[in-house]
Amino acid sequence: MRAASFGAGPAFAFFLTKVAVMRSLSQSAPRDPLPAALVGTLAALLGERFSTATAVREQHGRDESYHPSMPPDAVAFARSTEEVAAIVTACAAHKVPIIPFGTGTSLEGHIAALRGGVCIDVSAMNAILEVRPADMDVTVQAGVTRKQLNAHLRDTGLFFPIDPGADASLGGMTATRASGTNAVRYGTMRENVLALSVVTPEGRVVKIGGRARKSSAGYDLTRLFVGSEGTLGVITEVTLRLHGIPEKIVSAVCPFPSVRAAVDTVIATIQIGVPVARIEFLNARQILAVNAYSKLDYAAAPTLFFEFHGTPDHVAEQVRMVQDLAADQGAAGFRWAETPEERDRLWTARHNAFYASLATKAGGRGFSSDVCVPISRLTECIAQTEEDLARSALFTSIVGHVGDGNFHVIFIVDPENPAEIEEARRLNDRIVARALAMDGTCTGEHGVGHGKMDFLEDEHGEALDMMRKIKRALDPDDIMNPGKIVRL
Ligand SMILES: Cc1cc2nc3c(=O)[nH]c(=O)nc-3n(C[C@H](O)[C@H](O)[C@H](O)COP(=O)(O)OP(=O)(O)OC[C@H]3O[C@@H](n4cnc5c(N)ncnc54)[C@H](O)[C@@H]3O)c2cc1C
Repeated sequence: MRAASFGAGPAFAFFLTKVAVMRSLSQSAPRDPLPAALVGTLAALLGERFSTATAVREQHGRDESYHPSMPPDAVAFARSTEEVAAIVTACAAHKVPIIPFGTGTSLEGHIAALRGGVCIDVSAMNAILEVRPADMDVTVQAGVTRKQLNAHLRDTGLFFPIDPGADASLGGMTATRASGTNAVRYGTMRENVLALSVVTPEGRVVKIGGRARKSSAGYDLTRLFVGSEGTLGVITEVTLRLHGIPEKIVSAVCPFPSVRAAVDTVIATIQIGVPVARIEFLNARQILAVNAYSKLDYAAAPTLFFEFHGTPDHVAEQVRMVQDLAADQGAAGFRWAETPEERDRLWTARHNAFYASLATKAGGRGFSSDVCVPISRLTECIAQTEEDLARSALFTSIVGHVGDGNFHVIFIVDPENPAEIEEARRLNDRIVARALAMDGTCTGEHGVGHGKMDFLEDEHGEALDMMRKIKRALDPDDIMNPGKIVRL
């Protein structure tokens, strides 16, 4: 599946056919009702914090995407690691599936209870346990959200940079290996999680990783759990790296004459090593949606949003270099946001881009592609994708963390209209095939859930079998979020 040119040819056709066949074979397994003895145990343990109410179950079976709701049989609201361990032990005794739940903002059917079972909602586990400014790290319970953490850190001079558009839980962000607009400078959850407390599928509490900034002590289990999407255990505590708030922060918006000009500016910026903090792309349709949703008046053109961090001199130097690169590509000029309020408005609008697209269609749901390619292939990948999209009747927009080579096509579909979902899938299959042919990945940050499972064989080959072996070794009864990431 590795080819220089793309869009036709037998390898491409084979990929698309195989994915379509695998998808048609996918069926959710039959569900058994919860054993009465388990219901009794959990009700006695949690009282009103154990619920089988329809509305509560519905709310926990649906994420923010087009994937249909698949509610669990019950929801257990945990308050401590010990409670999570007790819930898992009880479910394990009956081999009942467990689905961990943070804030439910994932986008690939991650929290769908494909085989029923008990959803463990950790959102009430929201204590910030210890901030250690001298070591620049923090330990939190898994239900703490990224905004809650940053509000708590405000007076310390430190911040936590990973910022998915939604105000997600740090446990969920760990479980999906999330990133966001700052990843180009500060890395993703992979680089920022130091240690975890996890409850294993048999109900044991295990501490993995540590606060030392480096360690060669055995297998890197922390990295294994980062991105495990609840399939290996429940994360109950997370120790994270923190970063110093920069002395000077400047943001800017810059329209370009073409998609190619904008993306080539990104590539040049990264290749010459300008340490931009944020460099985000929005195509003209996305800008129009953002303007309407956030009451802004940016020019309707392919646009880059920038942010620069550092000392005043260092920021000025970065700005000069990027302005020169943008001018070489015919950019019209930068619109600056220097005050915290102006910057907040700009980045809130960017974070709301998904909802801005949703607002273009009453009752529409979002279907987001998430490919990431090596930076040198980014222009080609986005340009060929735009050609595909231009031939489709669906509303689509493009937004991306392009400094990392990661971009999303957002398709707005009517969830009741199978033809629209099929068309979004058809286009997404082509985008993924293209990215894999360019040595990229089907998901840069959203994760696999059950929505992207069909792509993993082509992406990982033999390594997918190794993943299956790990899953079977750690969760032999397949009770932890079954039906996600790997098909057993
Ligand atoms: C508007 C919008 C913008 C977004 N932008 C981005 C973005 O820029 N970057 C990005 O990476 N993502 C983005 N996302 C996706 C989403 O916010 C992330 O995937 C986020 O990390 C999910 O966190 P959550 O707390 O909502 O997890 P949930 O949706 O609750 O769960 C996600 C997965 O993690 C598992 N899980 C949750 N908590 C735990 C736990 N304590 N232990 C073990 N497993 C657990 C669940 O079982 C599930 O498989 C966006 C979503 C929306 C709606």
